[in-house]
Amino acid sequence: MAVAPTACLSELLSDGQLISSRSLTSATRFPPGNRLFEYIGFTGCAVQLDQEPLGATGFEIELEGPFACPVSRLGRNSRPPRCLGCRRPLADWRAQLDQTESDDSPKLHCADCGAEEPAWRWNWGRQGGFGRLLINLEPVFPGEGRPLPALFRLLEHLELGPWRYFYVQD
Ligand SMILES: [Zn+2]
Repeated sequence: MAVAPTACLSELLSDGQLISSRSLTSATRFPPGNRLFEYIGFTGCAVQLDQEPLGATGFEIELEGPFACPVSRLGRNSRPPRCLGCRRPLADWRAQLDQTESDDSPKLHCADCGAEEPAWRWNWGRQGGFGRLLINLEPVFPGEGRPLPALFRLLEHLELGPWRYFYVQD
């Protein structure tokens, strides 16, 4: 499958006004666009995004990729992924990944059922994940921002995917 360049993604998101057409410090970091709230549903009060102006909140959207191999985005909130074979949580995933840090596409091994799969294939739930093309919204406290159907409809224009979302705490 062809990989959409970041410029293609930024143009789509800018046209849809998820991001502002005015980039910040680099060509991949953007302030939120005027239609942010149509694409992301926010709950909680950690980030007061409805206080104008949006640009002054420090809220940013960063585009990353495309990468040749899925890259990991795991944080202190990440939980043991479930094995695709036996569904057991993989308790020693951090140790396994640390040992294969230089590997482009590290594998994880389940001692219970013997399954061995690239780390990106494991089920990380909403507490982390992997991707070749990433849209990072920050700051968003885990669970307090959720993509709405309109965002997935917008992303369908890229004809890439499937898209999924997760939360990472550094
Ligand atoms: Zn297993």
